[in-house]
Amino acid sequence: MAVLINFKICDNDKACSGMAVCPCGVFSWGKNGLTIDNSKCISCGKCEEACMVSAIRVAKTEEEYKKIEKEIEDDPRTINDLLVERYGAKLIDAVAMEAKEDDIELKLDSKRPMIVELFNEDSIMCLLKSIPVKKIADAFDGETRYIKVEVKNPEFMDKYDVKELPALLFFRDGKLIKKYEGYVDEAEESKLIDFIKN
Ligand code: SF4
Ligand code: SF4
Repeated sequence: MAVLINFKICDNDKACSGMAVCPCGVFSWGKNGLTIDNSKCISCGKCEEACMVSAIRVAKTEEEYKKIEKEIEDDPRTINDLLVERYGAKLIDAVAMEAKEDDIELKLDSKRPMIVELFNEDSIMCLLKSIPVKKIADAFDGETRYIKVEVKNPEFMDKYDVKELPALLFFRDGKLIKKYEGYVDEAEESKLIDFIKN
């Protein structure tokens, strides 16, 4: 009858495994992320099995649909809870997560845009002054992840050709698309916000 997605826990990824297995083209990916066309759904349940985080639910009757809809509505989780659980990151505030160098590869696997802040003991104060996350957070769309990584091994910087800390690395589709290294002054700050918005 119909499929429902719990967007409170969904990665909203264009590599959605539910979309990949659906035989009826119910799922599509576009500007607004993952969307569904329930007029095509035959309730086969394949997508439900394919979603590793149980974000997809299939209803076979109208009654079941309403029940699942209510369960999703009442689900107290948020996408941030899931990121912490799923990617092993530590939540710092509403928008930022702290992760270890080793975990970064896993996170970059996602298609979602990601901003990775690299810092070390020496640069942390500079960073707090130069790139106030809260200030740029308003520019994030619901998709962007902001992850802080304390750099302990110089090889980690070499990997991304980073010469100076603090640094901000921008990833899209798992690829590095832009880098900011060192202090960000006021003039650059507005450019940075524009870049994030766009
Ligand atoms: S597999 Fe599940 S969590 Fe991932 S994008 Fe699809 S519905 Fe969302
Ligand atoms: S239940 Fe079957 S037809 Fe419906 S969206 Fe899932 S995979 Fe596609």
